[in-house]
Amino acid sequence: MSITVRFAPSPTGLLHVGNARTALLNWLFAKKLGGRFLLRIDDTDAARSTKAFEEAIYRDLGWLGLAHDGTDRQINRLVKYSTAFYTLQASGRVYPCFETEGELERQRSLLAARKLPPIYNRASLDPVNAEKWKAEGRKPHWRFKLSRSKVGWTDLVRGPVEIDTATMSDPVLVREDGAFLYTLPSVADDIDMAISHVVRGEDHVTNTAAQIEMFQALGASIPKFAHFPLLVGAGGEALSKRLGSLSLEQLREDGMEPLAVAAYLAKIGTSDPVEPRQTLGELAAEFDFTKIGRAPAHFVAEELEGLNAKTLHAMPYSAVANAVPQGEAFWDAIKPNLNKLRDIAEMARLVSGPVTPVIEDAALATAAAALLPPEPWSQETWGAWTKAVSAQTGAKGRGLFHPLRLALTGLEHGPELKKLLPMIGRDKALARLNGETA
Ligand code: GLU
Repeated sequence: MSITVRFAPSPTGLLHVGNARTALLNWLFAKKLGGRFLLRIDDTDAARSTKAFEEAIYRDLGWLGLAHDGTDRQINRLVKYSTAFYTLQASGRVYPCFETEGELERQRSLLAARKLPPIYNRASLDPVNAEKWKAEGRKPHWRFKLSRSKVGWTDLVRGPVEIDTATMSDPVLVREDGAFLYTLPSVADDIDMAISHVVRGEDHVTNTAAQIEMFQALGASIPKFAHFPLLVGAGGEALSKRLGSLSLEQLREDGMEPLAVAAYLAKIGTSDPVEPRQTLGELAAEFDFTKIGRAPAHFVAEELEGLNAKTLHAMPYSAVANAVPQGEAFWDAIKPNLNKLRDIAEMARLVSGPVTPVIEDAALATAAAALLPPEPWSQETWGAWTKAVSAQTGAKGRGLFHPLRLALTGLEHGPELKKLLPMIGRDKALARLNGETA
């Protein structure tokens, strides 16, 4: 069976970490099995969809490294949806409804008052009502007539699922103004694009029951479904409340590595440990629906930041060569101290200056300056030099290394000095030991 999946975002906002996880899980699954990953822009909501958000989707997926094998916009495919609609109409599975939004709202509150579920009462199916409302000049919206029976599937994450469609309202397919809502276009596209697996958040589980009935009514085969639990914040709160701060754009601006974001989103809520990875391919090889737990996955910004640092620490120079013109030796010296790639600017300053030294022990600094060996320097220089300084001054351990670090870098902590010293070079080291900014 050939594998084809789709990521189907609506261009009505920036991609947030929840959407990105949906995209990623689809991509990883497809890549693991040599399948295709399609990008479908769900832009039937003309009032809320924008070109700018659509462009941001392409930019953000590109940044994450999730290349697609095909893309389309729903707005280009309206004729297909009409065809599907007429097929359903011909078999009596859609019907016009004339209630106003206010009337429907009243119905729902009456049901709520009686502690009944808010299921549409199908009043428009009664020809007496329909004729009366039509005569008033009302324009219809159109609903799909559910079978009111049990619909089941074996969900790749949730296991066997059964939903009685009698517990649901008949879904609205077409609005009064003729616009298609998401439900039918999605099914028509999934059929047309030969989607083998629909991988999405569990907020779509109920939709799936209705959509399976539509696949059947359109005479199509039914894809497999995988519904994973949604992301929640550190305290279990819905992410939607904080979307702004959790957009991919924001994470990019905050200096997160795309690979760290991908590894984090791929692993949280699964039985795998959250660890750095060097390629998306590794994540794909490790992907399995059976690893995804049933509890919501917690997105904790501090955890992502920690993984970002670890990802950088494990990165080979070849992966960052463009961003690090100082070369491989510099990268190896400073990477264990990075939290974000942009910290390299500060690390580069430690080497090339200007550094304002902090002279904690003047006598030690003077002795150390006098004992600096001639160049060329290597990583052995530091050991030999500090041994000589220790022998002459009697300083040891922290009493030796702390004042030297403060003098050479002006900082309490930083990269290993044995690696840094040869890059700082004799002139600057001497000046700094003498208390000069260099
Ligand atoms: N546009 C829909 C959404 O973003 C797609 C859902 C689906 O994957 O079918 O929720």
